[in-house]
Amino acid sequence: MTARPPLQPGATLGIVGGGQLGRMIALAAAPYGLKVHIFAPDADSPAFDVSSERTVAAYDDVAALARFAASVDVVTYEFENIPAEAAEALAAKAPLHPNAAALATTQDRLTEKRFINDLGIETAPFRAVDTPEDLTRALAEIGRPAVLKTRRFGYDGKGQRMIRAEGDADAAAILADFNGAPCILEGFVPFEAEVSVVAARGADGAFAAYDPCANEHRDHILAVTRVPAPGIAPQTEAAAIGIARRIAEALDYVGVLAVEMFLVPQADGPARVVVNEIAPRVHNSGHWTIEGATASQFDQHVRAVCGWPLGDPSRIGGMAVAMHNLIGDDVEAWATILARPGAHLHLYGKGEARPGRKMGHVTELLPKT
Ligand code: AMP
Repeated sequence: MTARPPLQPGATLGIVGGGQLGRMIALAAAPYGLKVHIFAPDADSPAFDVSSERTVAAYDDVAALARFAASVDVVTYEFENIPAEAAEALAAKAPLHPNAAALATTQDRLTEKRFINDLGIETAPFRAVDTPEDLTRALAEIGRPAVLKTRRFGYDGKGQRMIRAEGDADAAAILADFNGAPCILEGFVPFEAEVSVVAARGADGAFAAYDPCANEHRDHILAVTRVPAPGIAPQTEAAAIGIARRIAEALDYVGVLAVEMFLVPQADGPARVVVNEIAPRVHNSGHWTIEGATASQFDQHVRAVCGWPLGDPSRIGGMAVAMHNLIGDDVEAWATILARPGAHLHLYGKGEARPGRKMGHVTELLPKT
């Protein structure tokens, strides 16, 4: 890694992506006197409300990306589906953190799983699937149930389908729903819980992980995060954090990342950790850290990409924390939540509360029992 001098307060942080994650990174940059320039294609982006400069342009507008990067001191991003050419255009004009290799590795589920396995870390068994013949062969080798996913651009359960028993539709019919997109078939992991490790790695290689948190999904969308993860064994926690650290080091990562994992119960000991996916960015399961940890994930991300020392990831007072997403209509309860003592309400400033849309979240610190 090329050592770069740390940024000075007053410098400008460029963020690609204008959603709630970009908004919360921008809010965390403000106390340090940093300026923020957001690049996003949609003029209504929630992050624009809290940034001093904006560029409205498409993610494949290489000239606009280059102008944006040339006008800031460091570039980061809030989502991983940045095209490779866009990452190149950005990195040519400004330091890009996390680096382009982290993007390339994690935006394709096949590359990502191979990378994780090469580190000696377990994932679900998987096969690349491009044709009905591939799918038939992969199902014979992996067995059912299995999960077919697009290799790229999947999120919140989009671009995936469970293949259950024998007699489920035939391979050609199943693949037809994927419109020819390259896919991956994964064996179904019989998990008892889903956890994630949100962690930061600094430009100097320092590493700081939050306690692993347990994630509950509804309709494939994160609904609740709890930390500490209920019932998790100390060995499993240590194994999960060790995995996140190896991944961050292997990617020469600078910034915050999240590693989503399945915990698989074992007859003879603590649960086994199987990695599902890596998010090369701040993550919804880390929102609890805003009030629940000494330094939030957004603070850590800003510190890391600026080349500054990382903050303290420990939980405030060792308290347990619960974060609930406000999805779609849930947001209508905002006034009630606001009146609840101890509830920290976050609204993302999005217009229409469409079903499945993340409108905000609420965090509560739970008294120790
Ligand atoms: P993903 O888009 O990969 O994060 O998957 C969304 C959700 O689907 C996960 O959080 C799991 O609940 C479930 N899921 C995905 N892949 C598997 C798998 N191989 N085995 C079991 N459940 C899975």
